[in-house]
Amino acid sequence: MFESETAFIDENRIHTILTTAQRDIQSMPREAILHIIEKARQAQGLSLEETAILLFSEDPAVLAEIFSAAHAIKEAIYGRRLVFFAPLYLSSYCINNCLYCGYRRDNHFTRHRLSLSEIAQEVTALEAMGHKRLALECGEDPRECTMDYLEEAIATIYGVRHERGSIRRVNVNIAATTEENYRRLKAAKIGTYILFQETYHRPTYAKMHPVGPKAGYDWHTTAHHRAMRAGIDDVGLGVLFGLYDFRFEILALLQHAQELERSFGVGPHTLSVPRLRPAPGINLIDFPHLVSDHDFKRIVAILRLAVPYTGLIISTREESSLRNELLALGISQLSAGSSTDVGGYASASRASSSPQFSVEDHRSPDEMAADLCRFGYLPSFCTACYRQGRTGDRFMTLAKTGEIQNTCQPNAILTFKEYLLDYASPDVRPLGERTLQAHLEQIKNPTIRALTLERLARLEQGERDLYF
Ligand code: SAM
Ligand code: SF4
Repeated sequence: MFESETAFIDENRIHTILTTAQRDIQSMPREAILHIIEKARQAQGLSLEETAILLFSEDPAVLAEIFSAAHAIKEAIYGRRLVFFAPLYLSSYCINNCLYCGYRRDNHFTRHRLSLSEIAQEVTALEAMGHKRLALECGEDPRECTMDYLEEAIATIYGVRHERGSIRRVNVNIAATTEENYRRLKAAKIGTYILFQETYHRPTYAKMHPVGPKAGYDWHTTAHHRAMRAGIDDVGLGVLFGLYDFRFEILALLQHAQELERSFGVGPHTLSVPRLRPAPGINLIDFPHLVSDHDFKRIVAILRLAVPYTGLIISTREESSLRNELLALGISQLSAGSSTDVGGYASASRASSSPQFSVEDHRSPDEMAADLCRFGYLPSFCTACYRQGRTGDRFMTLAKTGEIQNTCQPNAILTFKEYLLDYASPDVRPLGERTLQAHLEQIKNPTIRALTLERLARLEQGERDLYF
């Protein structure tokens, strides 16, 4: 792809929309803004212009309405389910020098790439926590972290069976690569291919990525196109909030999502909202665009309004009380018990302690699950869509018709039941069982309800991996 093919990130248009919104909001009646939110409440999404208006609105009554609509959309589309995952860091070798990252080339520390047996140890530790879904992470280094290695790593992960555990979906967050390599990842049976843009603002991108393959804005920005052309249906986008003006980033992120939808008939499966964290050799004082908690909550809620059917992922970069608040504003997936260190889960495979960045929420999956139950949510370890071929536009069609409720809710119940049987601590188990019962009653379709009950009984008797 050439530069003209990344013209879908139209900086001039974004600047015009933002300038106009900032001016218009001064004289716009509150009712007009509430009307935009009301439309979004019907899961109709937001235009870039509407999004910009909401991003500039500081009126507390409007903000309350944005939060309430985000909550309502999330409940209508995702119910009270929250899907768990964990990152797995494979290698800290990196030839890029991203100024915000602890793995960047100029940082001197003992780097490590997990051997296949170390990967097995890590996966065993993750399975012992109850995880079924991973996101693979690594630095970019064509010699240390080759596609051959990644293929072997993925096959190893899918092959590890610790007691009743197994990893059922391996998402991959690796550097932009060729269509051929994406084809290989698809053949290796990855779930979502995730790549964060970091910043869509070209001058900031150039500053943050001075050298290495990642310095190529166009190469990086067209990665999802190549992945989708290679047959990967589910792709994830994200911005690293704190590098540049968040309003600009949100509009650009939405332009990227619209472009994928235009080109492939389906937009991104997920959006991630990582926020800049302290990291070895990084001083946050050097970053003038850090995002406050207040703005971060607005970002999450406005994204939920703008792209109601796209999953929203929150990581353990955020501290627990803020994460709790964000759940009500539209988050659908969260990581728990995470390590951002190579070999961070099984002490035997820990070569050094040099995380990519620091994490803030240290709750284990068990503690996280307990908190979710207390707040009335339903923890889910489901991976069924991908395994049933419900990816890409097939997933979106089911989501948009509401039919997904007949699969997601029972699948969340069944996978949480597995968690309770195999991993939950004695304290959490009764709380989890009560949560399960409450959510079971919300299944309205009597046939689905009966089938779920029948499968729950089979799980009790020792069967596993039952899903719709
Ligand atoms: N190396 C690949 C890449 O850069 O695309 C794979 C992903 S990297 C291991 C995971 C993500 O961590 C990066 O995309 C970046 O957004 C995020 N990250 C890096 N440094 C960070 C920091 N200091 N705080 C928060 N997130 C950070
Ligand atoms: Fe390497 Fe990714 Fe870190 Fe950049 S963000 S230095 S590419 S690991």
